[in-house]
Amino acid sequence: MGPKLKLLVNKPANGEFYVSNEAITGKVVLELEKPAPIKELSVTMRGTSQTIVEMTPEAQNLIRPHFPMKSSHTLVNQRNQLFPPANVSKALAGPGKGFQVTKGSYSYEFELNIPHWLKCMSDHGPRGAGFNKGEEEPRLPPSFNSIASQASGNDAISFYHKMGTVTYYVKAQLILGKSMFRLTPSDPILEAYEVINFFPDPNKEDSSASRTQSFVSKKAVQFEQELSARLEVRAKRLQEVHRLDYLFKPGSRRLDRVYLVFERPPPPKFALTVTRCRLQLVEIMNYLSAGHINAVTGLIPILDVPLDRQLDPSRIRCLENGTAEWPLDLSKDPGLSSYKFNEQNLIFQGNKLFSFVCCNIRRAFKFHLTLTLSANGKSFDIDMSTTTSAISLASAEEHEPLPKYDVSDAPPVYLK
Ligand SMILES: [Zn+2]
Repeated sequence: MGPKLKLLVNKPANGEFYVSNEAITGKVVLELEKPAPIKELSVTMRGTSQTIVEMTPEAQNLIRPHFPMKSSHTLVNQRNQLFPPANVSKALAGPGKGFQVTKGSYSYEFELNIPHWLKCMSDHGPRGAGFNKGEEEPRLPPSFNSIASQASGNDAISFYHKMGTVTYYVKAQLILGKSMFRLTPSDPILEAYEVINFFPDPNKEDSSASRTQSFVSKKAVQFEQELSARLEVRAKRLQEVHRLDYLFKPGSRRLDRVYLVFERPPPPKFALTVTRCRLQLVEIMNYLSAGHINAVTGLIPILDVPLDRQLDPSRIRCLENGTAEWPLDLSKDPGLSSYKFNEQNLIFQGNKLFSFVCCNIRRAFKFHLTLTLSANGKSFDIDMSTTTSAISLASAEEHEPLPKYDVSDAPPVYLK
């Protein structure tokens, strides 16, 4: 039996994923049943974002038609040498022999710190940064479609969804051999891997100072001849939505101000009831490779409630331009008012709901609101989409960032 290599990575503090400034710790166990010559034992943390982009028929190369374009960016590559200790390696200066290690079980503890910057930015520079081109300080993306979170779906959408992955893993590597040269391709190598999940802290940007945005339905709903209206949402804080944020609660400035805007005021006896409210998230995945982008969209139902909200005609306001607006006062419904975004912590195609951007992958979300209205015994659907919102997995209240550490490239120094 040859040497055995085991990699044991400690669980992250929250049991699920590592966060920014959390050290990845563990140990590498080496078992030798007989003496073995060892050149080197190391542990490396690597992260990559990879995409496969299929060419559109127009862009396809005529010689190699269905050739998919691949791209790979190295996000992290942190290596710690565990054996021989760094000071010993240095003392040996020049090509060394392998160390003859006697039989037994050896355990090496390690600690790896996740950097704050993207390694690939120094590989390709800002010009090759793809979706990160405009980012002042590009951040490490979270694990996405990583092996640990692969969904079992086999349909076409989930197939295309998996065309982009962000994977982080720890690798232990043992190089055996006793040749005079430091490393040769023929040296026997033993490796052990463990995929880890990483989730960076959310951006601490205050969006309360932003301006109000208006989102209007593309289509108008025609209640009667000469009576049509569009749906309008006025929001100030939809650019960034955290988990557990209130969406409809008065003052939330998200979906609490929803109006029907009529081209001309409805007649005095016109009665209108909101009978159903549906909210969906539209996921927009963009995968980039060799200058080509593939887009995949998905629809995630997040809320569907029956309502019986008869609108109060005294709330109609006529405007100078001849139009009239009728607030829907959705926040007066107790169910909607107390609704918190993504309390269930939904999983879509194997991933939780969060947006991110890296050089070759962009995941963005829009809200899509559909209301069913009832007038004169007839039912009407009206819907509208917002622009993209940054969706954050961490709730605004519960998140407490860890103190920031300095990441150094220098290997640890051992005393012995
Ligand atoms: Zn890159």
